[in-house]
Amino acid sequence: MAVFNLGSINIDHFYEVAHLPAPGETIAAKTYRTGLGGKGANQSVAAARAGAKVFHGGAVGAGGEWARAALGSFGVDTSNVVKLAEPSGHAVICVDPDAENSIVIVPGANRRLTGADAEAALRFAKVGDVLLLQNETSAQADAARIGREKGLFVIYSAAPFDVRAVQAVLPYIDMLVMNEVEAQQLHEALGAAELPQTVITLGARGAVWCKSGSEIAQPGFEVGPIDTTGAGDCFTGALAAAMDRGLPGTDVLRFAVAASALQVTKPGTAAAMPGLEEIQSFLN
Ligand code: ADP
Repeated sequence: MAVFNLGSINIDHFYEVAHLPAPGETIAAKTYRTGLGGKGANQSVAAARAGAKVFHGGAVGAGGEWARAALGSFGVDTSNVVKLAEPSGHAVICVDPDAENSIVIVPGANRRLTGADAEAALRFAKVGDVLLLQNETSAQADAARIGREKGLFVIYSAAPFDVRAVQAVLPYIDMLVMNEVEAQQLHEALGAAELPQTVITLGARGAVWCKSGSEIAQPGFEVGPIDTTGAGDCFTGALAAAMDRGLPGTDVLRFAVAASALQVTKPGTAAAMPGLEEIQSFLN
């Protein structure tokens, strides 16, 4: 079995600043570094580190080969990442001494993926494989529809939240994953609309899985969090890996909550995703 992900790949540019720039202000950064980012890439890394065979479909542009190679270095298959003429997706992230940030995202090549790209990325997927999608690429609904037609288990991470994006994939998905803010936004936008099974992450409080009227709750693990960036992506990637391994429902949730608890104890995003053995020994 395998996890297929049609997802964003970004180059994150981090600028450490004394304070976030005010309107009209120009400031010099204290440090600058780059890293692999994008919800899609982060979720693929999390799933691969958590033990899944992961095939990532996506797009990079000029200057993006580096990001594709970085994704591959985590054991993710990137042979379905296309190279486009657009700029690569990237994010400009200013971080102040209180870890407060301001972020500008340029979707670039991520939003140039077509239905044909989705088709190509899923051509080897088989019944029972998992398909992971998030709202940082184009062609999500095409991918979800193809996934449904092929009998894949389609998981949609509704982030960043956009009600139209959710509505476009709703007919084809098996599971929605959201944090509390996104769940509230969905509730305000769609009220009591019929939803597939839904997993809601609750930060330090863990997560809850709502399925045909019943709920499984998994309390959070008490850890010493130092950087919660990417916790939700770690959760979703680990959840996909656990579904793909065929773990029973309560174990799936426990596995994903444990993985993301471990992730927040380390700095960084992709680099902080825990490995399978680390998750298993934490749970034993
Ligand atoms: P997002 O990063 O999308 O906002 P959450 O904040 O809900 O998502 O976090 C996702 C998961 O990460 C949670 O379900 C939990 O398992 C884990 N997590 C997040 N913050 C903490 C924390 N402070 N302590 C332990 N686990 C955490």
